[in-house]
Amino acid sequence: MTNILVTGGAGYIGSHACKALKAAGYTPVTYDNLSTGWQEAVKFGPFEQGDLTDRARLDQIFAAYQPVAVMHFAALSQVGESMREPGLYWHNNVAGSLNLLQAAVQAGCKNFVFSSTCATYGDQDNVILDETSAQHPINAYGASKRAIEDMLRDFEVAYDLRHVIFRYFNVAGCDPAGEVGEFHQPETHLIPLMLDAIEGKRDALTIFGTDYDTPDGTCIRDYVHVCDLVDAHIHGLKWLEDDKGSRVFNLGTGAGFSVREVIDQSAAITNRPVPVVEGPRRPGDCTKLVSGSTRAEAELAWRPVRSSLDQMIADAWRWHQTGHYEK
Ligand code: UDP
Repeated sequence: MTNILVTGGAGYIGSHACKALKAAGYTPVTYDNLSTGWQEAVKFGPFEQGDLTDRARLDQIFAAYQPVAVMHFAALSQVGESMREPGLYWHNNVAGSLNLLQAAVQAGCKNFVFSSTCATYGDQDNVILDETSAQHPINAYGASKRAIEDMLRDFEVAYDLRHVIFRYFNVAGCDPAGEVGEFHQPETHLIPLMLDAIEGKRDALTIFGTDYDTPDGTCIRDYVHVCDLVDAHIHGLKWLEDDKGSRVFNLGTGAGFSVREVIDQSAAITNRPVPVVEGPRRPGDCTKLVSGSTRAEAELAWRPVRSSLDQMIADAWRWHQTGHYEK
């Protein structure tokens, strides 16, 4: 079997990627420190607990499994936290990824699929962002991911480590079969927080800012279903296996929805009211992040099939009522 090292394989996106990898005939080897992930979510291949900052442990994992590629999901990923504690992001995301890249090079592993983010683009006056758009992140999370992208480019030149970089827009939804799902503790993301509020698990959803320069005053994001997103990763892996060279792809749908639109849609799908309160802006938030995704469709033959807002909320709602993990 062909081993793929999946950092962050116990997390939301990583666990869905492991399921997709297994279905595609690979063995996903999860490397995760369980700081935000769940061992219970590791269902599709071996689990190795470890931290990105532990180089000796990484070397040991590369030697033991001889992975042909790395899929690197492990990261701190909260915009708000990154503004309050940027050092965590530079240490864990940037220094941790440097360790991982060095370990991959030393082990002779040549293919690297990296989870980057639309947060690397920053606020850009309502443009549709494509892969050639300038990258001016306005929060430490985006800055840390951009730094890793730079590192990958340098490592390609020096060591021929090939990369596919995916810049995710907002990931939502869950495995329709319910084997894995989205469960963060504490939760910070819009859709699961809203579903909590609908279920009465929290008093209300706070809308972070109603004075943005958008039609209804709330931020606009481009939501993509996690199953479509991880499917793109399988295409990305094949792209590297076919020796097509390093490439960057946005992953979104090109459709932007405001926070209020997501709330209204959720009320309609669940047939329940969403208790909301209006609050101030969250530091670090961009006004609008919408993807031009034609490159992934044209070059990877990627077709998002579950990424309508209705489908994402419906899948998330089903999981939300039954699924959770325990430490
Ligand atoms: N948001 C909100 N209230 C919340 C959480 C998020 O209004 O409790 C907004 C947030 O300001 C952003 C959008 O919802 O405009 C998506 O935020 P999320 O944290 O889900 O993802 P991010 O865009 O930060 O990756």
